Amino acid sequence: MSANTREPQNDKQDQLIADARRNREQREKDYREQTLKLYPHICARCGREFEGKKLRELTVHHKDHNHDNNPPDGSNWELLCLYCHDNEHQEYLDEELPGKTTPGRENKPAPMQKPFSALEELLKNLKK
Ligand SMILES: [Zn+2]
Ligand SMILES: [Zn+2]
Repeated sequence: MSANTREPQNDKQDQLIADARRNREQREKDYREQTLKLYPHICARCGREFEGKKLRELTVHHKDHNHDNNPPDGSNWELLCLYCHDNEHQEYLDEELPGKTTPGRENKPAPMQKPFSALEELLKNLKK
């Protein structure tokens, strides 16, 4: 094994990104499956029922909006349909608008930046 035509450095980076992405997807799949086991397949907001193919439209919402907070008892998860999920985040964003802060409430930084998009951007530029 001496002929190595690929650059090992790029290989490693590709591997890293692929791994990170796979881990994240796997994790999301895991907690979705768990939530579907824990809760009835009904949107917690509008009460619509989902089954079969439609089940795809039912998504897992994190009550505290922290996707890293995944307690196994499901206390941070809620099943919402795509529409209600959208609304939920819309309301949250409105709430978090600067200038709308309630006195006494801490102005904390956004909990979820996309950790990988920045990395991918960086690597894209490196490969040019
Ligand atoms: Zn709904
Ligand atoms: Zn959500």
